[in-house]
Amino acid sequence: MSIKPGGNIIDCLSCGMRVPRDVGRCPKCDGQVARQTDGYVLTEDIAHQQERVHEALIKLERLLIEAEVGRAAGLRVIVGSGLIREAVFAELRARQFSGDILSYSQDGQNSGAVFVKLR
Ligand SMILES: [Zn+2]
Repeated sequence: MSIKPGGNIIDCLSCGMRVPRDVGRCPKCDGQVARQTDGYVLTEDIAHQQERVHEALIKLERLLIEAEVGRAAGLRVIVGSGLIREAVFAELRARQFSGDILSYSQDGQNSGAVFVKLR
C-alpha cells in the first residue's frame, strides 16, 4: 500500500493489545488489525472552493491518509459534477486496482458524491 503513515503503535480493536500499526495480525487474538475499524465514515467536500483538479486530488490524498490513520470504515467525498468528479473516479479506480481501497461507488442517488469503502 502506498498509504502507510507507519511507525506508530495502535490498539487492537478486538482485544485492546498495543501493537505496531503494520503488524498484520494481532499476536494475542489473531485479529486482522489493518482491517479493523470502529465504523467511522469520514465526509469531506473537495469541490466547493473552485478547486482545480490537482488541488482536489491532493485533498483526496490527504483524506485517504487521515482515514488510514483514523482507521475509518470509509470515506464520503463530495466531488461535484465536473472534471474533479472524473479525476476522482479515475484515481479511485487505480487505487482499487492496487488494493489501497476495497471499492467505491456513487453515494446513493447523489451523483455528486462518492462513497469509498476502506475496510
Ligand atoms: Zn487482538
